[in-house]
Amino acid sequence: MGEQFEIIANEVEQIQVVENGLTEDTIMARLSRETYHPSGTEEHRACSICQDEYAEGDLLGKLDCGHDYHFECIKQWLMRKNSCPMCRHRALAI
Ligand SMILES: [Zn+2]
Ligand SMILES: [Zn+2]
Repeated sequence: MGEQFEIIANEVEQIQVVENGLTEDTIMARLSRETYHPSGTEEHRACSICQDEYAEGDLLGKLDCGHDYHFECIKQWLMRKNSCPMCRHRALAI
C-alpha cells in the first residue's frame, strides 16, 4: 500500500514538471549568470532557497524580476516551476 502510493506520487510529480517546469536546456540558455563579489560595505546576502549566505565567487542565477539565487538552487527550482520563489513572478520569459 505504502509503496504503491509512492509510485503514484512520483508520477504526479513528473506530470507537474512537464506542465510547469522548464527544461535544463532552456534554463542554461535563458538564465543569466553572475559571480558574487561582495563590496566592502554591502551586507551579506543569502540565497532564499537554501538559506545559505553567498560566498565570494559563488555562481548566481538572476531572474527577470531581479531576484537572484545560487545558480544550482534556482536551476533545480525552475525545473519544477517557472516562477520566482520570492515574488512569484514568472521567472523566465519563454
Ligand atoms: Zn542556494
Ligand atoms: Zn522575484
